[in-house]
Amino acid sequence: MHRLTGDHLGMEIKGFVDLSLVDWDGKLTSVIFLPRCNFRCPYCHNYTLVLCPGKEKTIPFERVESYLTSKRDWLDGVCITGGEPTLHSDLPELCSRIKNIGLPVKLDTNGTNPQMVEGLIEERIVDYIAADIKAPLTAHKYSRAIGVDSENALREVKETIGVLLASRVDYEFRTTVVPTLHGEEDIEEISRDIKGCKKYVLQRFDVSVGKKTLDPAFSELKPFADDEIVSFLEAARKYVPTTRIR
Ligand code: SF4
Repeated sequence: MHRLTGDHLGMEIKGFVDLSLVDWDGKLTSVIFLPRCNFRCPYCHNYTLVLCPGKEKTIPFERVESYLTSKRDWLDGVCITGGEPTLHSDLPELCSRIKNIGLPVKLDTNGTNPQMVEGLIEERIVDYIAADIKAPLTAHKYSRAIGVDSENALREVKETIGVLLASRVDYEFRTTVVPTLHGEEDIEEISRDIKGCKKYVLQRFDVSVGKKTLDPAFSELKPFADDEIVSFLEAARKYVPTTRIR
């Protein structure tokens, strides 16, 4: 994979991966990274984009657009991630421009901008949405998982859950399961809150690949063992039978 870097000419793109097999199940995609986030999840791997986005050079959209246009017959789509992409008021324009190239769009979001998510769906400029559910939907647990006060976030995330459950767009809810933050009962509680959803994915938190985390203490955590992950899967499947592990 190759990262482009360049000067700012338009949209605030802070990272671009030209080829990825892991960001949209079964699809060959490019990935666009947008900076900043309203959360401070202690296990965040993209914390440079969150804490000091000014350190990364802005990549001109024209360069990204030119690459995507030249590869549109080879790519299955484009993932927009971050940071939190919905903090950017020009996200709908970015989605439209990608759709105009002829490529499907996937959005990763922490679920705190239900209005924008709803607008993207209504405008048909997004094809797939992956929405994070960071913890059971209670103030204490959510705050602990996102590293900031969760009062507003909880209301917004619940609204986004409602938007997606009622929509016809393809989507998934996903939880990164993190030692010290999640137990079997938490996963069961989350799955109860999203009962009836199309797809729920449990993502393993794994620092074995040497990635650093926003809170350095999380880089030292031992990942969950396979049997623990299986017990989470069984707990989630009580309410969302199609839950899978990624
Ligand atoms: S992991 Fe948390 S802090 Fe990091 S980008 Fe995602 S929502 Fe933001």
